[in-house]
Amino acid sequence: VAKEPQYTNHILDEISLSNTSGAGRTQFVQRTISKQAQLIELVGKGRYGEVWKALWRGDPVAIKQFDPRDEQSWIQEVKMYETSWLRHENILGHMGSDCKSTASSTRWWIMMEFCQHGSLYEYLSHARYTPIQLLESVRGIYSGLEHLHSAIFGNNPNNSKPGIAHRDLKTHNILVKNPTQCCIGDLGLAITSNDYKEKVNKTNFQVGTRRYMAPEILDSSLNFEKFFTFKAADMFSSSYIIWEMLHVCQVDSDVTERERTLPYIDEVPGNPAVEDMLKVVVEEGKRPPLLDRWRQNPITRVLCNMIQELWCKDPSERLSALRIKKTLSEMLLHKQDSFPPV
Ligand code: ADP
Ligand code: MG
Ligand code: MG
Repeated sequence: VAKEPQYTNHILDEISLSNTSGAGRTQFVQRTISKQAQLIELVGKGRYGEVWKALWRGDPVAIKQFDPRDEQSWIQEVKMYETSWLRHENILGHMGSDCKSTASSTRWWIMMEFCQHGSLYEYLSHARYTPIQLLESVRGIYSGLEHLHSAIFGNNPNNSKPGIAHRDLKTHNILVKNPTQCCIGDLGLAITSNDYKEKVNKTNFQVGTRRYMAPEILDSSLNFEKFFTFKAADMFSSSYIIWEMLHVCQVDSDVTERERTLPYIDEVPGNPAVEDMLKVVVEEGKRPPLLDRWRQNPITRVLCNMIQELWCKDPSERLSALRIKKTLSEMLLHKQDSFPPV
């Protein structure tokens, strides 16, 4: 039996009357948001459902549809997107949420800004960056992450923002708005500095994508009493995003074919188990290779050094998103004098 929609939003829609007596006149009717959106093309499939490109009142939007049994995931993600002060150009724009009922089922929707280049994972399969473009894109990602991580203190809850840790940073969850502008999406596993104590415990802290997990999550040594822990784990995972992006960067005159790759592609099986990752990342202390050619260019060399300060074992030694954003902004500001033309 279909569930009675509890969250449905309505908006006035203008329709043209086509019968003879009403021709040329328009009439307003109330329609649910979801009825006005026209699904155009399936653009992604994740853990909880499907993401569609859609047209809403003539404009492109992305619609994430959750299966009926995933209502809890929908509620959790909507709640996160509705956090006050979240809006930022490097965080995926949320428009609203709704549910669509038919006779047989209910589908949960989140309507978002549509990113025409898809996920960074897909984008890296065909994209090429110059070092400056890479620098700009990476700066944007850390600007978004810094905003996500930061708490804003106001005189009432609507004027404040809790710190938010993402907990599933990877190229699949970064969306590409244009060649030098990315944004952080998929807040489905995020926790806030207000709710982490009630949400995270000994039995459920190991979430996210195993390939990208920080060593302290893999070996359960993290201190989940402190919110800093979750931000530091995000910083670790983010190092692999820069590392993956570096692979498609055209450094100087080198014209070798560039290929997208994943961390530990030769060391662990596809969809690795925690044990596989634990062996490589913690016991053997391995990290993905930093290529010689990246050390030859001043921009990619800085990025390599940053990566090393992000994927270090000790969470307290990792760079913060703010530190990275500031360094990269400074580099972009002085690019004319500090770097040879690229
Ligand atoms: P899940 O929580 O199921 O992993 P995501 O929110 O990560 O779902 O979305 C799955 C995929 O859908 C992404 O990896 C991306 O390819 C695509 N996608 C998601 N949101 C958008 C968007 N706003 N614009 C374009 N593509 C998107
Ligand atoms: Mg995802
Ligand atoms: Mg998700």
